[in-house]
Amino acid sequence: MTDSIPGLAPYAVGPHNSRGRRLTEAAPVGRSEFQRDRDRIIHSTAFRRLEYKTQVFVNHEGDLFRTRLTHSLEVAQITRSIARALGLNEDLAEAIALAHDLGHTPFGHAGQDALNACMKPYGGFEHNLQSLRVVDQLEERYGAFDGLNLTFETREGILKHCALVNARTLGDIGERFLKKRRPSLEAQLANLADEVAYNNHDVDDGLRSGLLSLAELGEIPIVARHLRAVKRAYPGIGERRLVHETIRRMINTLVTDLTTQTSANIKRHQPRTLDDVRRAPPLVAFSPAVQREQLTLKRFLRLHLYQHYQVTRTTNKAKRVLADLFRAFMDEPRLLPPQYQNRAGADRARTVADYIAGMTDRYAMREHRRLFAIDDI
Ligand code: MG
Repeated sequence: MTDSIPGLAPYAVGPHNSRGRRLTEAAPVGRSEFQRDRDRIIHSTAFRRLEYKTQVFVNHEGDLFRTRLTHSLEVAQITRSIARALGLNEDLAEAIALAHDLGHTPFGHAGQDALNACMKPYGGFEHNLQSLRVVDQLEERYGAFDGLNLTFETREGILKHCALVNARTLGDIGERFLKKRRPSLEAQLANLADEVAYNNHDVDDGLRSGLLSLAELGEIPIVARHLRAVKRAYPGIGERRLVHETIRRMINTLVTDLTTQTSANIKRHQPRTLDDVRRAPPLVAFSPAVQREQLTLKRFLRLHLYQHYQVTRTTNKAKRVLADLFRAFMDEPRLLPPQYQNRAGADRARTVADYIAGMTDRYAMREHRRLFAIDDI
């Protein structure tokens, strides 16, 4: 029965095995349930805010650096290509990719670390969990429900990681962390496509910013062998083109490797249903050799880009901005905009965290100036 859906593998997510929405709605007309999820995500407020949230470089540092929005679009593109090649549900995979960073704070990982530190006494802050909160509760758009009322499978994909203590409070969506089960292949895929996207665009942005040099990147095996191939094919090629040719070939290598290795894993484990996928080890994977190369590149980026002193100077300031805002709102909840004040009664810290996490980089800086700049009184 299941393989009667054209182009869809029997173990892919489809209408036949979806657990549906928390609140039952009439079936969509002219589009699938997962297309509807994707459409709701794209029309959400949190999605538009991604344009002004940091990936690595703070939003105002340059117009060409990746933002969370362009990053999410790149992840969606890579995810869709591979999903189609593997006979997976492309619409679901795309929806997960587009939503995966909705819960990110301003100022990238520095912001997440700062907010998590502030929230330590109140249950902490995890951006994956926050992404789920955004689509389950925080978006205020529909008459009938809070959030976007997405399908179980999209929500499951959004909740990539989760501490066990939080998983216990989440009902069916937290179950897999407790039972050590895997999510759908579409979710596994969006997760690894995220890595392909950021490793490559961080190389590009790192070079563009001048914080990384081609000479030092040329020591990293995966970069080195693609650089060599490009130089061989186009002797005397200019530097910008050399960088782009190298990066597009690296993305291609990773996408091809991921597709081939995953196909082989599927063949070996022979899942016949979505339940088989959930019980199997992770099936979406790079080959061991490429996985090693990816790790080397990741380590290099951590040391030379994410921890570069110039990045650290900015992120350190950003951390202070968020910590200041958190303290100010906790000390005086009447500083919060009215729609947040009304919610503040029950759980003040979580409401403050929701407000701060929703901010764009520039909104957080403006809010900080409004609250702390003495000459503005
Ligand atoms: Mg991401």
